Amino acid sequence: MRLTKFTDLALRAVMRLAVSPQGDALTTREVAEVVKVPYAHMAKAIARLQHLGVVEARRGRGGGLELTERGRQASVGWLVRALEGEGEVVACEGDPPCPLRGACRLRRALSDAQEAFYAALDPLTVSDLVASPTGPVLVGLVGVRPE
Ligand code: SF4
Repeated sequence: MRLTKFTDLALRAVMRLAVSPQGDALTTREVAEVVKVPYAHMAKAIARLQHLGVVEARRGRGGGLELTERGRQASVGWLVRALEGEGEVVACEGDPPCPLRGACRLRRALSDAQEAFYAALDPLTVSDLVASPTGPVLVGLVGVRPE
């Protein structure tokens, strides 16, 4: 199973925001530079995270992006499911649809495997992801403008 690039960069943003000190919020552009993804892609990911209630943006002096308490305590399995959407790992209903799709044991097995993948992430929270050694590395990352 492979995550979309969108999910990956959203998770990078969430992890970076999870280690921001109080009162030192980053902008979307700064997050993009720190985790080395293009600004436009990061802006879309941040918008989705805001919609999910994981990130909020504070305006004005000292403003920027912050992880919400919901985001900090979020299950990684829940977050990855929400970012990936409802899709199956194989496009059985594609164009043209697969002729086996109505009676395929492989489809059922792949669906079970996909659920097992998410279930393995369920016990982890975002806060768990930034425990050492990841958190200190995230804090030390500096922004380098992506190509
Ligand atoms: S063989 Fe089965 S799993 Fe593969 S596309 Fe067809 S229905 Fe889906």
